[in-house]
Amino acid sequence: MTTSQRPGRIEIVAGVMFSGKSEELIRRVRRAIIARTPVKVFKSHLDARYVGLQHVSSHTGLSFSAQPIDRSEEILRHVADTPGVGVVAVDETQFLDAGIVEVATHLAEHGVRVILAGTDTDFRGEPFGMMGHLMAIAEDVTKLQAICVLCGDLACRNQRLVAGQPARWDMPVVMVGGSETYEARCRRCFQMPRLNEDQVPLL
Ligand code: ADP
Ligand code: ZN
Repeated sequence: MTTSQRPGRIEIVAGVMFSGKSEELIRRVRRAIIARTPVKVFKSHLDARYVGLQHVSSHTGLSFSAQPIDRSEEILRHVADTPGVGVVAVDETQFLDAGIVEVATHLAEHGVRVILAGTDTDFRGEPFGMMGHLMAIAEDVTKLQAICVLCGDLACRNQRLVAGQPARWDMPVVMVGGSETYEARCRRCFQMPRLNEDQVPLL
């Protein structure tokens, strides 16, 4: 089957940190390889966790080689360099620029199965990058949850901690090279002090 005859589609693997997005991405990529489909794997250069930029890796140690990119349009250039690519997989999609919407759409319309994994909410619990938009235009959305490290319920929030304390609302969304850490927490255990509590109307 040629590339243009294949049905293209967009699949999203979303959720908080530790929810298993990278594991799921790697699983889908492995299965595509078993089906002898040429695959290209990318990740945002902003994520260098564990084995560095050249790999997609999970918190359990699974890893897969990946091409680091700064901008979404680089995906098209790399795919054009390798004729016959049937699957394009991207990890840490939340860090990419708005162009990822056009890039994913273009690839899907040209018969490519596009698998985009990413954290769909930031440390405030608000939509992260283009993830919400991508979830809307995708054919298939898998939303994963982690386990709350405090109470054991399902976790839907990324708790940012700075020097062991909950990060405040006014901090930047992306802290490159920062000393912050993250925990998976449920809605009840999630804590986020506001800049000025008096200015925030409570229900
Ligand atoms: P993500 O890409 O969503 O950050 P990964 O695929 O890298 O997630 O890692 C998921 C793995 O992380 C789980 O299979 C589990 O072994 C481990 N893990 C560590 N902490 C947690 C947690 N709080 N909840 C769920 N899994 C966790
Ligand atoms: Zn909890």
